[in-house]
Amino acid sequence: MKKTPISVAYGDGIGPEIMTATLRIIEAAGAQLEIEEIEIGEKVYLRGIDTGMSSGAFDSLRRTKVFLKAPITTPQGKGYKSLNVTTRKALNLYANVRPTVSYAPFIHTKHPKMDVVIVRENEEDLYAGIEHRQTDEVYQCLKLISRPGSERVIRYAFEYAKAYGRKKVTCFIKDNIMKLTDGLFHQVFDEVAKEYPEIESNSMIVDIGGAVLADTPEVFDVLVMPNLYGDMLSDVAAQISGSVGLAGSANIGDPYAMFEAIHGSAPTIAGQNVANPSGLLLGAIMMLVHIGQADVASRVHNAWLRTLEEGVHTNDVFEEGISKKRVGTKEFADEVIARLGKEPEHLAPVHYHHVPTVAHYELPATKPADKQLVGVDVFIHWKNGKPDDLGETLSQVVVDALRLQVITNRGIKVWPSGLDETFCTDHWRCRFQASEGQSLSPLQVVELLQKAVQAGFDVIKTENLYTFDGVPGFSAVHG
Ligand code: NAD
Repeated sequence: MKKTPISVAYGDGIGPEIMTATLRIIEAAGAQLEIEEIEIGEKVYLRGIDTGMSSGAFDSLRRTKVFLKAPITTPQGKGYKSLNVTTRKALNLYANVRPTVSYAPFIHTKHPKMDVVIVRENEEDLYAGIEHRQTDEVYQCLKLISRPGSERVIRYAFEYAKAYGRKKVTCFIKDNIMKLTDGLFHQVFDEVAKEYPEIESNSMIVDIGGAVLADTPEVFDVLVMPNLYGDMLSDVAAQISGSVGLAGSANIGDPYAMFEAIHGSAPTIAGQNVANPSGLLLGAIMMLVHIGQADVASRVHNAWLRTLEEGVHTNDVFEEGISKKRVGTKEFADEVIARLGKEPEHLAPVHYHHVPTVAHYELPATKPADKQLVGVDVFIHWKNGKPDDLGETLSQVVVDALRLQVITNRGIKVWPSGLDETFCTDHWRCRFQASEGQSLSPLQVVELLQKAVQAGFDVIKTENLYTFDGVPGFSAVHG
């Protein structure tokens, strides 16, 4: 079989030990790999490269397009960018796939029937990293959700379900509150779900969905959700399945893909030959399926299941009464290698077939909407009195039909007719709108800002209010 080039980073902390163990196992199983070693992580950061990734590393990734990565340590202190976030964005790895399975009764868990795959959107949401301090008291972080970003990851979740014979895809969102952003994700989910009538689909609000996941994970099959919820809930899912040390993850893009464990570099146990290599090994198994070496993936996975089943456990999952033999990282790899060719006798064996995990989706071009400017939210830093004082003075700032309609503080209406009880910060959103049905020119907004500044107001930012084909592209005011 022709060798497949891959880029490999040994990482920091326990990284080198678990990578060595993982590569020994998969090569013993017959993986045909041409490994290009790349240097990323702590040493690179400390050389002054703020991304943690040398330019040579990117050259290698461009060549191989497949990245097997051990965990890395991000040095403490400001100025170091998260290598994971950089890699996901630079390589456009839009879907993070995290299968979490319980291995009862061989690994202790309260959820013996758990077999859930979380597909997390990987590039957008609050992770765009666009944050600002705007006043003495208020900081903001922008939550960005796009139609193409949502569509790609949701479509990927359905394609994954189809390829792996899964029955149901569930979407977690919080669109009772974030009606536009999470509302878009939900809407795209409903649209895409219609194209897969053979797969059951439903959606849940993330708070109750998360609670059900932690309580009865067996009711879920494939889950898809925006970045932040997916980040949190995939760790919860891994932990309740038995251990975070047992979960691997694939970061999928087009044409790149990155495979890793979900845990970090565990510096306190580094260099002691005690770390569990299973998370990275499961990441490597996903990589083998991705590069078309599904038979090798099955051999490794089945030998690994057999090892767990026979009670050969690393320290993190070792439990008196369940486990039979406590082993170190290196010995665990030896035990898995010794079982290559065997299948588990109690746990279900795994038989992979080649699945094109890099899905190339031609997203349909969306027709530009008829976009009309109908108002502007002017944000003001102000601490000089009561909301009525602000409302009264700011009402004097008028441009043609563009007038102050409402003021909110942290989203709650405080003028006109606010409640005395509402706590106010120094950050005010002042909504100016033209009369209904009337659209504005951007120059009218500029003129309004000029007048507001001339009247002594500290304008910190604005958000234009648009309608798209007549539908408001902004949330209504609460209160
Ligand atoms: P961690 O996942 O490294 O460790 C959490 C706990 O789990 C520790 O008690 C650790 O000993 C244990 N643990 C983790 N993996 C294990 C394994 N394979 N076998 C046995 N025990 C294991 O999380 P942390 O302590 O919050 O972070 C440590 C460092 O890792 C930080 O610098 C962080 O930025 C980095 N990190 C990197 C990645 C990544 O590269 N993908 C992910 C998360 C954290």
